[in-house]
Amino acid sequence: MVNVLFAAEAERWAEYELPLRSAFRDSGIDVTLSTEHDPVEVDYIVYAPNGPVTDFTPYTKLKAVLSLWAGVETMVGNSTITAPLCRMVDHGLTESMVEWVTGHTLRYHLGIDQFLTQQDGNWRLGFAAPLARDRKVCILGMGALGAACGQALAALNFDVHGWARRAKQVDGVTCHHGGSGLDAAIEGADIVALLLPDTPETENVLDAERMALMARGGYVLNPGRGPLIDDEALIAALDSGQLAHATLDVFRIEPLPATHPFWAHPLVTVTPHIAAETKATTASQVIARNVVRGEAGKPFLHVVDRAAGY
Ligand code: NAP
Repeated sequence: MVNVLFAAEAERWAEYELPLRSAFRDSGIDVTLSTEHDPVEVDYIVYAPNGPVTDFTPYTKLKAVLSLWAGVETMVGNSTITAPLCRMVDHGLTESMVEWVTGHTLRYHLGIDQFLTQQDGNWRLGFAAPLARDRKVCILGMGALGAACGQALAALNFDVHGWARRAKQVDGVTCHHGGSGLDAAIEGADIVALLLPDTPETENVLDAERMALMARGGYVLNPGRGPLIDDEALIAALDSGQLAHATLDVFRIEPLPATHPFWAHPLVTVTPHIAAETKATTASQVIARNVVRGEAGKPFLHVVDRAAGY
């Protein structure tokens, strides 16, 4: 018998209980899934940082911590997690992110916002979108999400450039890597989308200098993490016309405080961290797959590199 503790927010239990039970049943493993277990009996913890567990020390026979979140910046520093920490890579979540990034890229590319409020009877000429192939889109982060977004945009003919820590090959995407590759990835970009993890190395990666490298009148999409952008530099770049607009899904403080200048800025769209949610059905299958691997003595999938921070 394998004991799995569900330790996410209380309201998630109603969403996850049946999909997890069904995924474990399909996996053929005899699992006791509960929100309450004697800590010394727990084999795996399905985890979210806003749940009831912060100290993992009592879980003495823990084989893995299985995160429901893709971003693990609040977990990597928890020194009481000594078992492997696996982050969420869920194809439902990836599909959502592809839709969000593609949707907002097309919105900017086609100039959709300017026509939404046009009700004055004035037949304005002067805007026609160039072809996608003439738009450089830069995606910072070529992991599970960035690479999928890059491929979707490349399939629409955008000139997609990606940036990662290590050298990468992604179909249809010109890949850059490391400190020296960053400027080449951003230079002349009409749209920059951030899909990096929040680590000490990625903080303020999009700063005033990098914004100045983008094409004048460029656009920024941030579905990654708030600290990736220098907020003050972003506002200055929007005010100066260097950037035309930004759509931000993630912030240094969430919920974004009502007094934050992003809310009132006419060139900023705020979305409340909804770009991509973990989907209970597909995520449960990922969790069950990892438990099966653990029980078979195979290496876990999606193990976080605690030293790298993601
Ligand atoms: P991932 O698979 O771990 O990919 C991360 C990418 O960032 C990798 O390509 C990695 O390079 C690159 N990277 C990390 N540190 C770097 C550095 N110092 N310099 C250059 N590149 C660096 O993560 P993912 O699943 O794609 O998710 C990305 C982020 O999206 C998550 O961390 C999370 O913050 C965010 N997210 C947001 C939402 C939302 O709803 N807004 C939902 C899910 C996730 P390598 O390939 O060389 O390792």
